[in-house]
Amino acid sequence: MKSKALIIEGIGKSEIKEIQMPELKKNEILVKVRSCGVCTTDRRIFTGEIKVPTPMIGGHEVAGEVVELNDKVKKVKKGDLVTLDTINRCGVCYYCIRGMDNLCINARKGRKIEDNFLIAGGFSEYIVVKEKQVFKLLNGTPLKVAALTEPLSCCLHSVKKADLQFGDSILIIGGGTMGILHAFLAKMRGVKAIISDPENHRREFIEKMGFKAIKPEEIESVVPEINEGHGFDAVFITAPVINVVGKTIEYVRKVGTIVLYTSMHPTGDLDIDCNSIHYSEVKITGTEGRTAEDFREATNLISSFHRDLECLVTKTVSLEELDDELGLTPTGNEQRTVVLF
Ligand SMILES: [Zn+2]
Ligand SMILES: [Zn+2]
Repeated sequence: MKSKALIIEGIGKSEIKEIQMPELKKNEILVKVRSCGVCTTDRRIFTGEIKVPTPMIGGHEVAGEVVELNDKVKKVKKGDLVTLDTINRCGVCYYCIRGMDNLCINARKGRKIEDNFLIAGGFSEYIVVKEKQVFKLLNGTPLKVAALTEPLSCCLHSVKKADLQFGDSILIIGGGTMGILHAFLAKMRGVKAIISDPENHRREFIEKMGFKAIKPEEIESVVPEINEGHGFDAVFITAPVINVVGKTIEYVRKVGTIVLYTSMHPTGDLDIDCNSIHYSEVKITGTEGRTAEDFREATNLISSFHRDLECLVTKTVSLEELDDELGLTPTGNEQRTVVLF
């Protein structure tokens, strides 16, 4: 079977081509892609900020319909609507065995279709995945919103990094889609979230969703109101602004957590006073991707709360329009762009 796919051939260079889909092996499923979110990572690959081998096919926020499956597959049937956990976890490495399969050392080993590297290959009419990578959508979840399952699962992994309790307060730096998904998950846990973002339109959008939004320069005046002045229980950094990381130590209470959600491009050193960590027992941690369990939880959440998240998909494009889209950076009222097939 042939599939039309957007192939990135170099920095800022892409073309739609037909690729030959491979025969299904045992436990494999052919999914007709119906929606695929455009992640910042995809944009950074296109602009060369993130270096990957080319030619390649991006797109890892995928939802679609099961169209063909090997008869050994039991989890889904033809016609089922699914979201895809596109990480191909090996299940046997040190990290997989220890329940940290988001860090699987074999997951990113060069999978290819013809000459094209797959990261993960959702910008294509069809995609082949293993049975363990499909999760069935329930409750009439629109496919457009289902593309948010992957980003939601990564935010879920991030929120779990802080030991949050009912009634806690968190600060989220960055009012993009990831920041808002963090706030949504916090709310689910009975945690109050404040999002800081320098853009007026972003803050208005966030307030409309029912979350508190402030300007970055207002953070310091808010801290005295949080936890009797001790500071936030956790701070999540979802915008790539490296110079704010050191400063967040002053916003978090003792034994609180600072989570570096976003990667930095280019990366750099942190300017942090060692003793400010020593005396306060503050924890600074990264968060990478999601585990299979995070993905399962995110699929259930999307199935139950897709109406709350629908407004985050602010633009839809066709595969033909994706080339132009990849060169843009969403600002203001723009949140997630989803490619619809
Ligand atoms: Zn992503
Ligand atoms: Zn592994």
